[in-house]
Amino acid sequence: MIISKLKEALICFKAGRVTLPYPFQPHEPEGDFRGQLVVDVEKCVGCGGCAEVCPPRCIEISDPSHDKRVIEFFLERCTYCARCVEVCPEDAITASKEYETATNDRNDMHIRVEVFMSTCRRCGRCYEPPTPLDRLTVTGFRPPVGEEQP
Ligand code: SF4
Ligand code: SF4
Repeated sequence: MIISKLKEALICFKAGRVTLPYPFQPHEPEGDFRGQLVVDVEKCVGCGGCAEVCPPRCIEISDPSHDKRVIEFFLERCTYCARCVEVCPEDAITASKEYETATNDRNDMHIRVEVFMSTCRRCGRCYEPPTPLDRLTVTGFRPPVGEEQP
């Protein structure tokens, strides 16, 4: 018993120091590390694919009006699985190397994206206008909420 413990101690002494000096020195994560999400609001087209695949349902989609879609990320529930990163067709979401996410303000973990949408005249569902010029056309053409399309 004592001999095995001494052997164990010898092995530990030989190994030297194996713990990292973090947090006294900065620690750079590995290349494929999945840290806090960053969303490029300019790239998002409001497809909702990220919300579909998010296991803890921390991405919520709402359509407050017929020309606006809101995508909200409540990252305090994020498990850093990166499913949303994989499925986003526009590469609008990236997993950064940031891991120091502790905060006393929940708003620090909240990302809100507002996307201007077109509405299909047949089914009424939203879609992203193909170009900025199309968006202008749609805005000028569209009647106020609740009125019939001409
Ligand atoms: S990384 Fe995973 S848990 Fe976090 S928002 Fe994306 S899909 Fe949801
Ligand atoms: S972030 Fe990507 S997957 Fe999510 S709604 Fe925007 S374009 Fe679609």
